[in-house]
Amino acid sequence: MSRVFNFSAGPAVLPEPVLEQAAREMLDWHGSGMSVMEMSHRGKEFISIHADAESDLRELLAIPANYKVLFLQGGAAAQFAMIPLNLLRGKTSADYVNTGQWSKKAIGDAKKYCKVNVAASSEASSYTCVPKQSEWKLHPDAAYVHVTTNETIGGVEFHWTPDTGSVPLVADASSHILSRPIDVARYGLIYAGAQKNIGPAGLTIVIVRDDLIGEAAATTPSVFDYKIQADNDSMYNTPPTYGIYVAGLVFQWLKKLGGLKKMEEINIAKSSLVYDYLDQSEFYRSPVAKEDRSRMNIPFTLKSDSLDSAFLKEAEARGLTQLKGHRSVGGMRASVYNAMPMEGVQALVEFMREFEKKHG
Ligand SMILES: *Cc1c(COP(=O)(O)O)cnc(C)c1O
Repeated sequence: MSRVFNFSAGPAVLPEPVLEQAAREMLDWHGSGMSVMEMSHRGKEFISIHADAESDLRELLAIPANYKVLFLQGGAAAQFAMIPLNLLRGKTSADYVNTGQWSKKAIGDAKKYCKVNVAASSEASSYTCVPKQSEWKLHPDAAYVHVTTNETIGGVEFHWTPDTGSVPLVADASSHILSRPIDVARYGLIYAGAQKNIGPAGLTIVIVRDDLIGEAAATTPSVFDYKIQADNDSMYNTPPTYGIYVAGLVFQWLKKLGGLKKMEEINIAKSSLVYDYLDQSEFYRSPVAKEDRSRMNIPFTLKSDSLDSAFLKEAEARGLTQLKGHRSVGGMRASVYNAMPMEGVQALVEFMREFEKKHG
């Protein structure tokens, strides 16, 4: 067996010990004689898997007791509609900060349900920074303020928490959740698709303050109503059981590693290795403002895009895969999520150095 260093933006690399454990438990989970995939979601075995996953996530993120944790389906993109459906609560507008392709999609869906005020945008600078809070135009009547705290495509990350006063702050944290501690109490709602930093695609996590739920629009489908899902422990319909199980293994892996403070230190070390190399090179370039660079998704360009295909081909031959940048940005993108080992990042930088020597 040989495994590559997989720099995919998502679905993405998972911790090897997690995959090994899932493989060992595939046919017979803890003496149950069943795979987790074969279990009733209402049976005692799966209920314990679900409860452990929730309590481990609560511990990792220090989620206050007045927040619900929901394990849903539909991806982060389903939340683009669920958020206005559930959180408008009779109001007619919401504020959105536009920092990239994912914010833009969230805005597009919200417009179907309410008036969207774009409180700030970095579109004019091709989404290479986070607009400073002093430039934001927030509306006190907004139902909530939506931000994308890590833009997976542009590689732009909030390294600070916006202050929205009494208006609930809503964050799409899909591609950096669990990469560092966050102060959950500063947010009304945090959501994330699992396939970047948590587990397999098909699971979406929503962390929501309990006073914000229970006033969904009358047209909200039941499976998309936070209150109905919360009252049913995310089991109003069949939850993504196997995804919850693997996410639970990832939470245990993170706890064993030393929690999110430790994970953050490792992520700073890994991403700095790449950024420091990019910054001293005249051959490679990072398009993102230094203070807003993502620790998870690192886009970069080569001196000439005519070298892109040679770079990708030679990288692939070394087992460094999925480095092609998003078509809207071009160049390369190295996604270095929690599960990417330091050795993978070192191998990437070593390859970049050699490629530069050869073609620079
Ligand atoms: C990947 C991603 C999404 C979309 O997730 P789906 O699971 O495909 O719906 C939304 N927001 C961000 C920030 C993402 O990285």
